[in-house]
Amino acid sequence: MAELTDQAKALRQAAADHTRNIASLCELIRIPSVSSDQEALITAAEAIRAELKESGLQDVRLINGSGVAPYVFAQWIDNPRLPTVMLYAHYDVQPAGERSQWSSEPFVSIEREGRLYGRGAADDKGGVVAHIAAVRAWLKGVGRLPLNVKLLIEGEEEIGSKHFAALLDSHAELLKSDVVVIPDSMNWNVGDPSLTCSTRGAVTAIVELTGVDHSLHSGVWGGLAPDPVMGICQMLSMLVSGDGEVQLESLRREGRRQLDEREIALRGITGEEVAIRIGLPKGMSLVGDPNISLADRIWNEPCITVTGFDAPAVNGAPNAIQGVARARINLRLPPAADPSVVAAQLASYLERHTPHGLKCTVTMTSVQAGWVADLGRPEYAAGSRALAAAYERPVSYLGTGGTLPLLRWIAKFFNNPPCLVLGTEDPMSNAHGPDESLELADWHKLCTAQTLLLGELSPANAQF
Ligand SMILES: [Zn+2]
Repeated sequence: MAELTDQAKALRQAAADHTRNIASLCELIRIPSVSSDQEALITAAEAIRAELKESGLQDVRLINGSGVAPYVFAQWIDNPRLPTVMLYAHYDVQPAGERSQWSSEPFVSIEREGRLYGRGAADDKGGVVAHIAAVRAWLKGVGRLPLNVKLLIEGEEEIGSKHFAALLDSHAELLKSDVVVIPDSMNWNVGDPSLTCSTRGAVTAIVELTGVDHSLHSGVWGGLAPDPVMGICQMLSMLVSGDGEVQLESLRREGRRQLDEREIALRGITGEEVAIRIGLPKGMSLVGDPNISLADRIWNEPCITVTGFDAPAVNGAPNAIQGVARARINLRLPPAADPSVVAAQLASYLERHTPHGLKCTVTMTSVQAGWVADLGRPEYAAGSRALAAAYERPVSYLGTGGTLPLLRWIAKFFNNPPCLVLGTEDPMSNAHGPDESLELADWHKLCTAQTLLLGELSPANAQF
């Protein structure tokens, strides 16, 4: 009988470990590591550290900083001349929200019809355990890894990775890597693997309009006194055209990326398909320029959402002109747009369009750049081969309308390495919402793909 290749040995180990990997994931889901719960974050970090130690990695440790959820770090440096892959994922999760909206306890994993339910199952504890599964498959099945590996598991992704840039700055040598693998995105369909090739940027601002310093009788003074609530509505409506097109000059044409020919198929996404996915009632229409493809509209075009509004609640509201109104707006940018230019234009546009001399204050709470993959790099082809082999399906090249700030920081600190952003979620995962879930068959394929990927990225692989 022919001797098994190292790749085959690692795959055999990954398959043998599958039940055990699911158990590790269930255990991790049981820890309610919501970004605000320091104690649970530490418990989750410790649990991951124990798993990494057991897997056979070297130098397993927590990187602590004051007021920072610990980063879990581990590495395997066999030969400094080999390339180094960083495996990134995050163990913090969104709050569960209303318990009544869940079909079962959010922090108790439960399997129903092939899906594993529980907060964090897909975003992103499934990603954390997929990394561990791949590393363990090589270390237990082959006795070594085919290239150098650094594992970095974060506990602050859901609150904007706010200490990540400082971490890269202070630990530049320790963390320096040639390629990064991030299983924290979405596949377009269950069963179809994907590589996410771009993210949009994001600017979040709070707009406050102040009128006279107290509320006024709306009958006695209405028609003369300026109304900050109406004023803020007028300003916000002027930010977009009737189609929802953002009116800022810098966003007219700048920053779009050319979709790669491998992505063209996804331009065929239909309005009917989107309507089903988002639950759009009959008679309601999608927004955006109808001459631009739907895929471009969510991945490549800017959009603006009012995510918060302060005015008196309807119940019990007096008939009065208010002294102040506030709105929180979230502007998504084309992947290559410069977010500081957009933020400055947004502030000046709002100030210029303030009616009646009301006092306008704009506070930027977050300014994040998007990211575009350089698909010419061979690491993306390696990722594509590993995914296609594991899922036995061709790989979809996707964009995402969301923002992953760490991609830009990785680009800045590590000289723009290729970042393979893989899908742990699928359209049914409902990450951040109730009944978050993971398709277990796909997750098994993700673990297999990650195991294969380590081999594909190694220089020993002739195709690389
Ligand atoms: Zn995530």
